[in-house]
Amino acid sequence: MNNDKKYDYIIAGMGCAGLSLAIQLKRSSLKFSKVLLIDKDLKNKNDRTWCFWTKEKNNWFDKIVYNRWDKFLFKSSGFEKEIELHPYSYLMIKGIDFYDFCLKELKTDSRFEIITDEIQEINTIDSQAVLKTKNHFLSCDYLFNSAVRTLNKKTNHINYVQHFKGWLLETEIDSFNVDCPVFMDFTVEQHNDCRFIYIIPFSKTKALVEYTGFSAEKLSDEFYDGALKNYIEKKLNIASYKIKETEKGEIPMVESDFTNPFGNRVINIGTAGGSSKPSTGYTFYFIQKNTKNIVAQLENGTKEIITPKRAKRFLLYDKILLHVLDKKEIEAKQVFTTLFQKNKVTNLLAFLNEESSFAQDVAIMNSVSKKHFIKATIKKLTK
Ligand SMILES: Cc1cc2nc3c(=O)[nH]c(=O)nc-3n(C[C@H](O)[C@H](O)[C@H](O)COP(=O)(O)OP(=O)(O)OC[C@H]3O[C@@H](n4cnc5c(N)ncnc54)[C@H](O)[C@@H]3O)c2cc1C
Repeated sequence: MNNDKKYDYIIAGMGCAGLSLAIQLKRSSLKFSKVLLIDKDLKNKNDRTWCFWTKEKNNWFDKIVYNRWDKFLFKSSGFEKEIELHPYSYLMIKGIDFYDFCLKELKTDSRFEIITDEIQEINTIDSQAVLKTKNHFLSCDYLFNSAVRTLNKKTNHINYVQHFKGWLLETEIDSFNVDCPVFMDFTVEQHNDCRFIYIIPFSKTKALVEYTGFSAEKLSDEFYDGALKNYIEKKLNIASYKIKETEKGEIPMVESDFTNPFGNRVINIGTAGGSSKPSTGYTFYFIQKNTKNIVAQLENGTKEIITPKRAKRFLLYDKILLHVLDKKEIEAKQVFTTLFQKNKVTNLLAFLNEESSFAQDVAIMNSVSKKHFIKATIKKLTK
C-alpha cells in the first residue's frame, strides 16, 4: 500500500462538484502546494447534459456553455406559453465538454495530481482527513467528498427521485425550434403521478427529448422507450429519426438529509452535500454557489470550514411541495401549471434558485391552491 503522501486537500469524486471546486481552487488566490483528485472513473464519456438558469455573468464555465436561451416553453392542458426569461438565461453544458475542459486546465498546474482508483473509506483521524483505496492510504488537511453519499432516510420523510430517460434524436426534416427549449410539457398521460417531457434543441434537426417523472420509484426501460416513441411520433409528428445517444439518470429529491459521518475534516459537496434541490432536482447551479462559498472561506483563512447551508425557509418550501406531490390530492401538473400561469416567471426562477425575497415567496405561495399547501405546511410544522 502506497502511503502517506500528505496533501493540502483531497477532492474525492471528479464529477460536477469535485471538478468545479478544483477549478475554483486553481483560480483562487489561495496558497497551497498539493491537491489530489481521485475518481474511479476516467470522466471521458458524455454521460449527462446540464441545464440551469442564471443571471450571473463572467462565470468560470462560460467557455463551455454549448447554448444559452432567453426563453423556454411551458406547456400543459389548456395553457401553453413561450416565456421570456430576462434577466435570466437558460444555459446548457455537455458533460464531456465540462470534463475535458476541467481536466485539461488542471493538468497544466503541477499542484494538482489525479489518480484513478476506487475509494473504500474516508474519515477524520487526529485532525486529518484520510482516504483509503485498495492501493493507497492518503491524508490531508481537508477532504472534499462528492463520491460517497450517505442519506439518512426517515420513515416519515418523502424521498423522491427525479428520474428520466432521453434520446438525442436526429431527424431528416426540420423538427425543432432552436430558439426555445421545452422546459416542461405536461400534455403526456400523468398516470396519477408527475410526468413531463423536456426538450433541449441542438439544431433544427437534432434535440434531446427526455421523458421525466418525479416519484418514489423510477420506471422500466420499456416504459420510458414506449412513452418517448409515442411522444415523438404522435405529438411531435416525427416519422423518421435516428437515436444518436441515450441519457438516463436519477437525481434525489429528498426530504431526508445527506449526513456527514466522516468527521470535521471531511466536507461533503455536490449531491452528497445537499446541493440537489429537493423540489426540482436542479443541482448544477447550487454546486457552483456552494463550491464558491467553500473557496471564499479558505481564502478568508477560516480555521474550520462550514458546509454551506440552505436557508431554512427554502428547506421548508421544498418539504411542503414534496408532501403536496406525494398526497396527490391535487395533480402535480396542476400545481406546476398554476405556478407558471399566475406568477412572473423571473420571480419563480429566483424562488427556485433560492434568490427570492420573502415578499416574493409569499406572492408565489398565494398563487397555488391554499387548501392543499396549508395542510402540508401544518403537517410539516407540527412534526
Ligand atoms: C443524467 C443526468 C443529467 C442531469 N442533468 C442535470 C441538469 O440538467 N441540471 C442540473 O442542475 N442537474 C442535473 N443533474 C443533477 C446533478 O447536476 C448531477 O448529478 C451532478 O453530476 C452532481 O454532481 P456531483 O459532483 O455531486 O456527482 P457526480 O457528478 O455524480 O460525481 C461523483 C463522482 O464520484 C465518483 N465516485 C463515486 N463513487 C466512487 C468511489 N467509490 N470511488 C471513486 N470515485 C467514486 C463518480 O465516478 C463520479 O465521478 C443531472 C444528473 C444526471 C445523472
